[in-house]
Amino acid sequence: MIYDVIVIGGGQSALACAYFLRRADLSYLILDNQKESGGAWLHAWDSLTLFSPSDQSSLPGWLMPKSESAFPTRHEVIDYLRQYEKRYQLSIKRPVQVHQVTPHENSFILETSDGNYQSKALISATGTWHKPYIPPVPGREKFRGLQLHSAFYKIAEQLVGKKVLVVGEGNSGAQIMSEVSLVAEAVWATKKEPEFLPDDVDGRVLFDVATAKYYAQKEGKEFKPEKLSLGNIVVVPTVRAARERNALQAAGRFESVNETGVIWQDGRHEQFDAIIWCTGFWSALDHLAALDIVTENGKIPTEGTKAKDYLGLWLVGYGNWTGFASATLIGVGRSARETVKQIQEYLRERSL
Ligand code: FAD
Repeated sequence: MIYDVIVIGGGQSALACAYFLRRADLSYLILDNQKESGGAWLHAWDSLTLFSPSDQSSLPGWLMPKSESAFPTRHEVIDYLRQYEKRYQLSIKRPVQVHQVTPHENSFILETSDGNYQSKALISATGTWHKPYIPPVPGREKFRGLQLHSAFYKIAEQLVGKKVLVVGEGNSGAQIMSEVSLVAEAVWATKKEPEFLPDDVDGRVLFDVATAKYYAQKEGKEFKPEKLSLGNIVVVPTVRAARERNALQAAGRFESVNETGVIWQDGRHEQFDAIIWCTGFWSALDHLAALDIVTENGKIPTEGTKAKDYLGLWLVGYGNWTGFASATLIGVGRSARETVKQIQEYLRERSL
């Protein structure tokens, strides 16, 4: 069978796309390499919560049920995604790893762990969680202690009594530092002074800012929200508590790593038992390597979500380069709706 559309990945972005594909009455299939619903939320650390209340964290069509706490836990998000799939009877196969996509007579062949699949159009929605990024710091391979990317960090208890270096001044770094500092001697290495959003700014405000910026740019206007840089740290309750304990002091930059620790910029050596790299992610696009369009910075040139240099391919949910706020539950609906509209037009034109 040749599907109209195959969606690679089965996280929140894929589900948002499927919601509109189903309404467009296109034949589609989601292929996800996980055993169950939840996408990246299955792998996040135990205490991770959303930045916004449930009613501001919903996929198209159905509001996330109210949470017991102010911000839904990752378990509540996973449950919501599972119920969402059921509610709309989305067509998903799991676990299926898509190894490679190759072009074939105006369509795509997907080589997978479940044999080959074929589709006329393709949505890649594989997220970033499987592509942790660690900067090339000299000597990193020499370190004899524990090294962990935030993608693999689960719970602070694994670090009790240790001396831990947490690297990175983003949200992951701030949140992990906040809880590790409760059980270990933790030091926060940052490239620049961490910037915290005002305490009353959460994901709701950030989404409104992203939306205002999107429309301002569309109309060619300048938009500079004061103090509301989208990359700044959201002061979730654990971060606020750590700040009040004075546990979020930034120690600045280090130059290199050696067998036992790091060398700071002033030449001082400091010993550590563990280093946690909260240094971000790249997009998981290895399955598209054969199309030869992934650039050196690990992205694909796009217009909105549509690949600029490849007909029939759309990319959804990876971050601002695939649409403002598209890596959030509330933001991805807009990208998904526009993507499916474009795919409908593309398939219509193809069939003429
Ligand atoms: P994913 O959830 O990563 O789903 C992609 C799926 O594709 C996964 O199941 C993956 O296993 C699968 N896959 C990958 N490669 C293949 C392949 N080759 N073949 C088959 N399947 C494949 N978002 C919010 O909305 N609100 C928040 O408050 C929020 N807070 C966050 C806090 C932190 C600290 C972090 C790091 C992220 C946060 N996010 C938040 C973002 C959110 O976790 C991700 O952006 C989101 O999970 C992306 O969804 P996705 O569907 O695009 O990708």
